[in-house]
Amino acid sequence: MSRTGFSVTVYGGAPGEIGGNRILLEWAARRWLLDFGMRFGLTGKFFEEFVQPRGATLGLRDYLRMGLIPPLEGLYRHDLSAHDPGLWTRYRSHPQYRTVDRVDGVLLSHGHVDHVGSIGFLREDIPVYTGLTTALIGKCLQDPKPTGVDGEFNYLVPRAAKGDMLEVLRGAPRTQRRHFIATDGTDVTDPAAAIQQLASFWGWVPGERTAIRSAPLELLDQRGLGDLGLRFWRVDHSIPGAAAFGIETPIGWVIYSGDLRMHGHSRQRTEKFVKAAAALQPALLIIEGTRVGQSDPVTEPDVHQAAEEVVRQTGGVVIADFTARNIERLRTFRDIATARGRRLVVTTKDAYMLEHLNVIDPNIPHPASEGLAILDEPQGTVQSWEKEVRQRFAANFVRAADIRREPGGYILCLSYWDITNLIDLEPEGGTYIYSSSEAHSEEQEIDAQRLTNWLDHFGLRKVGGLPGAEQGPYHASGHIDGPALEGLIEDIGAERMLPVHTEHPEWFEKRWGKRVVRVGEGVPEML
Ligand SMILES: [Zn+2]
Repeated sequence: MSRTGFSVTVYGGAPGEIGGNRILLEWAARRWLLDFGMRFGLTGKFFEEFVQPRGATLGLRDYLRMGLIPPLEGLYRHDLSAHDPGLWTRYRSHPQYRTVDRVDGVLLSHGHVDHVGSIGFLREDIPVYTGLTTALIGKCLQDPKPTGVDGEFNYLVPRAAKGDMLEVLRGAPRTQRRHFIATDGTDVTDPAAAIQQLASFWGWVPGERTAIRSAPLELLDQRGLGDLGLRFWRVDHSIPGAAAFGIETPIGWVIYSGDLRMHGHSRQRTEKFVKAAAALQPALLIIEGTRVGQSDPVTEPDVHQAAEEVVRQTGGVVIADFTARNIERLRTFRDIATARGRRLVVTTKDAYMLEHLNVIDPNIPHPASEGLAILDEPQGTVQSWEKEVRQRFAANFVRAADIRREPGGYILCLSYWDITNLIDLEPEGGTYIYSSSEAHSEEQEIDAQRLTNWLDHFGLRKVGGLPGAEQGPYHASGHIDGPALEGLIEDIGAERMLPVHTEHPEWFEKRWGKRVVRVGEGVPEML
């Protein structure tokens, strides 16, 4: 036992693994989780679209047995093991097994699934501290697919035992709101008013008649944060609302970077964070290292320039492939569309998110704003969230037939998952701009090849990081490059550092030697 009793345990995102961050900080007075994301690599090792963990009927069982969540008794929702009272006795001899009787909260850095994705398993009384934007992104991600144990990060659907399986608990209200505490309203002049404006949306669950009254979205001001020994700073990343945290501990301040960069439009947020973190003279910096091997990063203005040139050369339709949660990229293509006399077309799911994020950040384009339109895709049953979008924005929908008539009038935000739309669009003489990160797993490579097959089948010009495509600066990464990271670490000047979310811990060790803390997955490191 160390003098301070402070320890850090990495249950996901340990050196060697990109993403799936789950870090536990604990000492006598407190226990904080830093993110609780989904581990893509490990999940993909065993599962795919048609081989899925059986969460709906068997709760935690498959996730524990396949190592997708660590065996920490007491950390998870009780209802997910209600059918299996002997579950935990089977894990008592597991090397990572321990009981976790109390957690003060999850400090959620941002809304990417490798950071938020496994929160749905956590006990419902564990509060989530995060920015207002990230809280809303979580809800907008879950609403289109409200029930599915591993996606229940915003609200949960309690289960009960039925024999040796689980079923959804009957009786209204079926859903329960997880306790979210918004730690800032940085982009909002009056965060309290914004929360009030969002209250009915926050309490609404698609398919439920009654709003959820329990656990409204709470706002914690700087003083409240300070009382908990916490700091919160927004940083520059490829999703809005991304943040870093500071945690006051017996060893001194611990800084958690989340994911960040210094080459986006919000680089000044990261710079401010670095200054403020340095002023705390931190004892430990938990820092991401996704792209330490890169230097001279492509910037958003580079993407703008290259993509605009391609749009200028294209007479037909342009399809831009990027995740719509990357609002910076969405604005880049919105601006290109406007400059080239085109409209930017998004999916209903994207429109849903944009509408609600616009309430707290007017810089996020509203789906009914000038220059935007929503794609009217052929639908079978229309879900309730989507019905509402269709009603509210009826005038803003465009159909494939409209686009076929005037293909030079549009830029469509679509991705691999929406690719069947090409059949309706018949996009002759068009261009596909792949504006996302390149495939890095075998499965992604197969998807990229399949996407390429579609584009070739329809005779589209291909640019960006796809096999056989014209290469160029069509994507700016969400992650800081090596030289900038080196500067950031020197500027913060923490006594020690723990690299996470990186395949190259040796990059850190080469530079900072013994100041780098080495951890094994699931092994508490006393500091
Ligand atoms: Zn991220």
